Amino acid sequence: MNYKSELVGVLGYPVAENPTIVMQEAAFRELGLNWRYLNLEVPPERLPDAIKGLRAMGFQGFNLTIPHKVAVIPLLDEIAPDAALIGAVNTVRCVGERLIGENTDGKGFLRGVREEARVDPKGKRVVLLGAGGAARAIAVELALAGVAEITVYNRSQSRGSVMVSDLVARTSVKATFHVWTDTYHTTPDIDILVNSTSIGLYPDVDAMPDVDLSDAHSSLLVCDVIPNPPQTPFMRAAKARGLQTLTGLSMLVFQGVIGFEMWTGHKAPEAVMKAALEEAFEV
Ligand code: NDP
Repeated sequence: MNYKSELVGVLGYPVAENPTIVMQEAAFRELGLNWRYLNLEVPPERLPDAIKGLRAMGFQGFNLTIPHKVAVIPLLDEIAPDAALIGAVNTVRCVGERLIGENTDGKGFLRGVREEARVDPKGKRVVLLGAGGAARAIAVELALAGVAEITVYNRSQSRGSVMVSDLVARTSVKATFHVWTDTYHTTPDIDILVNSTSIGLYPDVDAMPDVDLSDAHSSLLVCDVIPNPPQTPFMRAAKARGLQTLTGLSMLVFQGVIGFEMWTGHKAPEAVMKAALEEAFEV
């Protein structure tokens, strides 16, 4: 018998309600892997100690959530190029003694676009609502995937303009910023529209971004980052117009899939992971 489990987990503050454990442990069970995923509550000032501890205990990798995604960077040995462009790390893989920082949020989004929505982002025109961490990750991965143009609408001027100037300086994508003061009216030339704000997140489940979809092209792909509940009012409004949708649950599952594959080297059981999260969210 081998009573020693391989360890991964998430460092955050707080972490009690972080649901990633549910899909990762379901995947370990499905593949018969003796691995465990732990929710580890680490206050900001203890992060350096925690990272030393993970190194000492031989963790295979870990996730980072609020408030550690930026603070962890100087504590790691290497940062993947896209995570460096995004300026945040949400997944670390341990290769020998080295801790390598990755960002799977935007990668998970992109995988959903390609594999679930079956849309090739190359050459597409994208509108992103929001300019926080999720928006930055999505924008960088879309830029690296060769979209033609990204237009960002954000409520606060400062965050939006910094995000777009970083994007233009660090990638070759064409990007513009507009302050989002009143209703955003979609135009028929837009191919992909993403709500990357926190509007609609539980418990504020009736909230909807101020968007008018009436002029959307029938092929517009409408995406949301909100994983819980996945059928946000925004997703429902797009569906009601017959538009294709991609939920934040898909993004969450795919970023977990990418983490699982980075850590274990095995192909992730995507359907099992998605079902586990749906059960947790009572979808
Ligand atoms: P941030 O706090 O970094 O950014 C929040 C963004 O939402 C900002 O652009 C903010 O605008 C905007 N916003 C919030 N409330 C409003 C409002 N009432 N009206 C207009 N704009 C608003 O958060 P994150 O980017 O980290 O996360 C955003 C969402 O993405 C969260 O709900 C999170 O759960 C989700 N997420 C989902 C993931 C997934 O895998 N599905 C992965 C990561 C995040 P302003 O700059 O003006 O404040």
